[in-house]
Amino acid sequence: MCGIVGYIGFNQASDFLLDGMAKLEYRGYDSAGIAVIGPENVIKIQKKVGRLANLEAIVKADPNEGTVGIGHTRWATHGRPSDMNAHPHVSEDGKFAVVHNGIIENYMPLKEELIEKGYHFKSETDTEVVAHLLEDMYDGDFVSTVRRMLDRVDGAYALEIICADEPDKIICTKKENPLVIGLGKGENFVASDIPAIINYTRDTYILNDGELAIVTRDNVSVFDRAGHAIDKEVFHVSWNAEAAEKGGYEHFMLKEIHDQPKAVRDTFGTHISEDGKTVIFDELNWTADDVAAFNKILIVACGTAYHAGLVTKQYIENLARIPVNVEIASEYRYSNPLTDDKTLCIVISQSGETSDTLAALKEAKRH
Ligand code: GLU
Repeated sequence: MCGIVGYIGFNQASDFLLDGMAKLEYRGYDSAGIAVIGPENVIKIQKKVGRLANLEAIVKADPNEGTVGIGHTRWATHGRPSDMNAHPHVSEDGKFAVVHNGIIENYMPLKEELIEKGYHFKSETDTEVVAHLLEDMYDGDFVSTVRRMLDRVDGAYALEIICADEPDKIICTKKENPLVIGLGKGENFVASDIPAIINYTRDTYILNDGELAIVTRDNVSVFDRAGHAIDKEVFHVSWNAEAAEKGGYEHFMLKEIHDQPKAVRDTFGTHISEDGKTVIFDELNWTADDVAAFNKILIVACGTAYHAGLVTKQYIENLARIPVNVEIASEYRYSNPLTDDKTLCIVISQSGETSDTLAALKEAKRH
């Protein structure tokens, strides 16, 4: 899954944004972009499909100056990877810029409604509805507009928004996608994950679902969905950044290949009894009868995880003699599946956050 970064402070925002996005590269992405509030509070967007280096080249040739900005590495769910579909997305009047991880489930009816009202969509993404909705619902107050906008969108998201009329704040909020705020002095940071901010600060707020943060240079206020202020506890990060870095290897793929024996041992180790004869899954609280009640197994995943599922199918069918189906998560959701209460559904996600896979899990539970 992709990443979000944000900066508000006294340095050039683009420096942190590009650095933070590089630290989130391990999450995978197909395009990248930034929005910075520049001179006369004009929001300047730069975005490019492909490697982060493509975006860096654009920013180097044409610096995006300003001390408040947001950035995004995208992993497309709606609309192919392209310059136009890359985030940030901006409202037609240029006042709001938005980056989003996740899926806006009800984007279609919202999009139809906004087109009806005369808004023009430039991208094929679900995310763009958020930018136009903000413009459409704007009451002159950034925070209240974001709150009312959130009442209209369903789905999973980590969202970060800037507004040209209130250039001294970033608003961010999350539901089922991670978001961390790094607490600095005269500057604050936003990111999907800690590696992006660890070189800048070790004090963080980890946002919970439904929480909304107003981030200024000197303050971070966090509110619950109803608008009540929350007394957030500072989470001090004590682990080192190296764990999420390349660990001396030239490429992440190389590192991951060499990590495999350890990763497999770490994952399996706690689930195999000391004598190596029994499989232990205490946390599932299953009885032998529970396990015997399954008559088929469904594995749902995306990308590489889907291929891991295909391998798993061979092992399970050989050992357990139970039929296993492996489905691509984005297809499964719309396939009127044959899942029932005798189906064991296993979802596989490297990040644990793959939106399509999480949505498929919900769908499987519904069945
Ligand atoms: N659904 C959005 C898109 O396709 C966000 C994808 C992401 O999480 O990067 O643009």
